[in-house]
Amino acid sequence: MANLTPLDQETFKRRVQHYLNSTALPEAAKVSSKAFLKATCMAVNDVIHQSLQDTQKQRQQQQRSINYLSLEYLMGRMLSNNLHNLGLFEQAELALKEWGVDLTDLFEEGHDLALGNGGLGRLAACYLDSMATLDLDAMGYGIHYQHGLFEQQFHQGRQIETPDEWREYGSPWEVCRPEAVQEVFLYGHLEWKIDANGERCRVWHPGQIIRGVPWDIPIVGYNNQVVNTLRLWESRASSHFDWDAFNAGEYQNAHYAQNQAETITKVLYPNDETDAGKELRFIQQYFFCACSVKDILQRFRNVHGNAWNKLPEHFVIQLNDTHPTLAILELMRLLMDEHQVEWHEAWTICQRSFAYTNHTLLPEALEKWSVRLFELVLPRHLEILYSINEWFLNTLVQSQWPGDMTKRRDLSLIEEGAEKMVRMAHLCVVASYRVNGVAAIHSELVKRDLFPEFHQLWPEKLTNVTNGITPRRWLKVCNPKLSQLISQHVSEDWARNLDALKQLNEFADDAIFQQQFMNVKFENKQALAKVIKQLTGIEVSAEAMFDVQIKRLHEYKRQHLNLLHILTLYKRILDNPEYDIHPRVFIFGAKAAPGYYLAKEIIYAINCVADTINNDTRINNKLKVVFLPNYRVSLAEKIIPAADLSEQISTAGKEASGTGNMKLSLNGALTIGTLDGANIEIAEEVGRDNIFIFGHTVDEIKALEKDGYDPNVYYSNNEELKFILDWLLTDEFTPGRSGELRAIRDSLLDGGDPYRVLADYQSYIETQYRVDQAYRNQSNWAKMAIINTACMGKFNSDRSIIDYQNKIWSLVPSRHAFEPTLKAS
Ligand SMILES: *Cc1c(COP(=O)(O)O)cnc(C)c1O
Repeated sequence: MANLTPLDQETFKRRVQHYLNSTALPEAAKVSSKAFLKATCMAVNDVIHQSLQDTQKQRQQQQRSINYLSLEYLMGRMLSNNLHNLGLFEQAELALKEWGVDLTDLFEEGHDLALGNGGLGRLAACYLDSMATLDLDAMGYGIHYQHGLFEQQFHQGRQIETPDEWREYGSPWEVCRPEAVQEVFLYGHLEWKIDANGERCRVWHPGQIIRGVPWDIPIVGYNNQVVNTLRLWESRASSHFDWDAFNAGEYQNAHYAQNQAETITKVLYPNDETDAGKELRFIQQYFFCACSVKDILQRFRNVHGNAWNKLPEHFVIQLNDTHPTLAILELMRLLMDEHQVEWHEAWTICQRSFAYTNHTLLPEALEKWSVRLFELVLPRHLEILYSINEWFLNTLVQSQWPGDMTKRRDLSLIEEGAEKMVRMAHLCVVASYRVNGVAAIHSELVKRDLFPEFHQLWPEKLTNVTNGITPRRWLKVCNPKLSQLISQHVSEDWARNLDALKQLNEFADDAIFQQQFMNVKFENKQALAKVIKQLTGIEVSAEAMFDVQIKRLHEYKRQHLNLLHILTLYKRILDNPEYDIHPRVFIFGAKAAPGYYLAKEIIYAINCVADTINNDTRINNKLKVVFLPNYRVSLAEKIIPAADLSEQISTAGKEASGTGNMKLSLNGALTIGTLDGANIEIAEEVGRDNIFIFGHTVDEIKALEKDGYDPNVYYSNNEELKFILDWLLTDEFTPGRSGELRAIRDSLLDGGDPYRVLADYQSYIETQYRVDQAYRNQSNWAKMAIINTACMGKFNSDRSIIDYQNKIWSLVPSRHAFEPTLKAS
């Protein structure tokens, strides 16, 4: 792309100075770190916006535009990543040093963009980075939440949520684009009308009109001067407010509509892996889809006019989970009602334009919305949905399974019952030309267990694209010491071609390299120890093994299994003060959905156990337990480089892929994990000798059900397990308040242990023992860690995006593929 002369240190400094001056503050305020941060961001923005314009000019129209629709983007901080991707990091560092400002300290002033919950949102962020790096014509669409994911604090061990104020004073990266404002209709009623051509047509008289205001955030490619756009929609009232009402003194009424409209994008729903099931969430999803699809059509029309049948050749719309499903119905509606495209033609266009990524098999996470809610908020969309369902059942289902009413009922887009519900995933599968899972095993389970009939109907449709992470943020930016060591031994630009890390395998046995590798890890651990001290007051030694579990708090992720291991070790040391174990620091980071009772009880239990263990002098600092508050991208960037052991211990079949597992392994942590999600592929890459696999497999978990799973059998037959579970009934960890931690025990015994924690307990404990033994041989541990880093090439998100390109986006299905082959019913 454009050949900009790289900014030197002096020029960069002048630009920062310029922005410091132009903010015209008194001298004292000007030199605050906030002022430096802002001026630095603005200097960087100059470069970014030049490249953005160049990118847009040079884009070839024949490239199919990729439109990534996601309700979540977990971007983290932007400055450091942008400086690295622009190749400006050193210039900026030196320039600021001249003022005595430390660039790394400055980063700490920046706020995370936390417009997502966890893995799904972070995946979207990694994919934006890779799409720009691969110079794809890609646009991300999302919501401009006023408050992102809540901030987490602990009060006496319990999670407290406070609102996230990421743009209280504005964000330096976003640019408002009033020229691309959209209108969104809600509620109201339908009517038949005769149009100018004498055709009967449907008219929707909305009950409310909302404006969608776009905020653009530039996405900087790595080392290629490409800049793409993430467009985030903010809701506003359609007219600023009602002047007449205001002038008549009805201040409350005038503000009412405005408040109501602005409520739509006020907060991110903090549920992870569960369905929110709220009317506002439904409107939020629709608002986002309507704005994005209208924007896409406008962009198409600017170049191709009204040749709507050509839309699929020029645009593909990738749905990140079912949250943006309403985009399908909105595209149908706009084509039919606003652009006079006939139903079959519009449906063919949809079927050639959409692709859908499935992220979960958990039944509670499969989205359903009531027909009643559709009827109220989106009456026209419900009508269109019914027409699609009719087409689907009467042509495809009928011809595949003639007269089979069970199949009709099971596959229908509508679930019958006391309350009729719309199955969003079914609509996604029916409307999309490709559906992918996010790791090999997950995609197999999608075919085998979730959508077997759909797989039968369309054998080509279901496919796999294994998740990936960007090695820019997750190695180059977050772990400069390891990056430098790697660059001394790997000739290529590994941040662009992560497979090049394979070259490190040659040094896996090299005693000097092992020492260097472990020195880097040790220094990173010392740095994390400081952060731990700062955030929690707990002192930990970098000599201990850092055992890390960082991810959303969920029963299927089994933080409580980790807790059972901690309790087991604590008990063993209390019983035998000579118990031989290498000192360990257990590090947790996790937010629980505010309404998720047991998740919050698990946080509380870990904090109580931590408090007891950390202050028990009898165990001679062999164990420390640290729960770092407010886990988020910027905290992950500090923990991951310092991890020795990566806990990936979900119940087999429940974690679709995981990406935390990839980040940790890339940074030289060894994994203790189940054969679940991408762990399986990580094991294939690093080899079984370099990973600690335990527990039941997917099929074995399934087999447990056969004779009726009974957790009490494990409890009764395992004395150690019995003791530690019963410990939770005492006041050992909650002095004077017996039984406060019993919710975990109750769920495992009386609650049926839905995630099979007890079935994997013994295997986990034994494998942790092997981990302890292995850690004592530091040379061999170093070797295994090096091999982990060396073998992570596959999990580069650039590879994932190339897979999307090859398996999905580059395919434009022929229009004939979807011409209805009507068979008599
Ligand atoms: C990577 C990441 C996740 C996903 O972690 P998993 O272990 O795959 O669940 C969640 N939150 C943040 C902040 C992350 O960076």
